[in-house]
Amino acid sequence: MSEGTRPTQVGDNTWAFVWSGSWGQANTGLIVDPGSTSMIVDTVWDVNRARQIADETSRLVVDAPVTDVVNTHSDGDHWWGNDTVPAGARIITSTASLHAMKEEAPPRAVHAFASLGSMVGWVPGPLGAMGSYMNRVRGGARLPRRTPRMPTHTFDVTEQISVGSRSVGLRCLGPAHTSGDLIAHVPDAGVVFAGDLLFVGSTPVVWHGPLGNWTAALDHLLSLDAEVYVPGHGPLCGTAEVAAVRDYWTWVETAAREHFDAGVEARHAARNMMQSRDFLPFAHWGSPERVVLSLSTLYRLWDGKPAAPPTLARRARAFADGGTLLREKKSR
Ligand SMILES: [Zn+2]
Repeated sequence: MSEGTRPTQVGDNTWAFVWSGSWGQANTGLIVDPGSTSMIVDTVWDVNRARQIADETSRLVVDAPVTDVVNTHSDGDHWWGNDTVPAGARIITSTASLHAMKEEAPPRAVHAFASLGSMVGWVPGPLGAMGSYMNRVRGGARLPRRTPRMPTHTFDVTEQISVGSRSVGLRCLGPAHTSGDLIAHVPDAGVVFAGDLLFVGSTPVVWHGPLGNWTAALDHLLSLDAEVYVPGHGPLCGTAEVAAVRDYWTWVETAAREHFDAGVEARHAARNMMQSRDFLPFAHWGSPERVVLSLSTLYRLWDGKPAAPPTLARRARAFADGGTLLREKKSR
């Protein structure tokens, strides 16, 4: 059994399946009204883990069948397990996320791309760097063979969902990490499922932007003053960790903009930033090289291009930079 497939209770009749938090290892949630109905938050892309979570969930919802499933955003690691939820359940996401899901490369393409990556990973230069990084992103996950069920119900900005007698507040705070990031607030349990607006213990990535929306989203999360925040990746946390992500983005925005204005290209800027003193508070977070992925988005926006979901080609170019930084680190 893979790590953490036992549910962690995060509030009254509210659970999280917390995973290690590295690439693709997303957390999921479960909100139960005993004797009535239940809601799932996010589904994982690794086929084996998705099945184990479905088994554990079935034990917790014996008298409260799952009627609603929420996907927090369009990245595959948060919804490619949708075929493991009960067939009759309604699947909900934001209008912007559903649109992006339809545009995303299907699991089969990501699998092919990562497998190719593992073959060319030894090649010097950007192709090999991209390949080895892509393989790292997939990690050990076994992806589904076909594109799973898409959401069947969408909303634009906010929606209240009844889970039996409980109420869950959905709010789209994107575009930020992706085009339609949403959070699920469970006020009666003091819990917020934050999706990838919150990374804990690993470095966040902005794929869509603008960054101002992300810091505003973090302010919103702080204003909810929840007892427990369930991040998209990493351990459960409180407001201090939310504030730390906000500090990270404030630093990135300032330092990256200085480099951009001075005409320093993104990879060089990332290298400088990771060597600066201001980076120290974040240096212990996993995958620090991800800053260069975020710079690929920010530079694009500062060049005057519109915010847009990352295509596979855009991700591939960013992964080539990430892989190059890692290789430099290893050879130092
Ligand atoms: Zn994620």
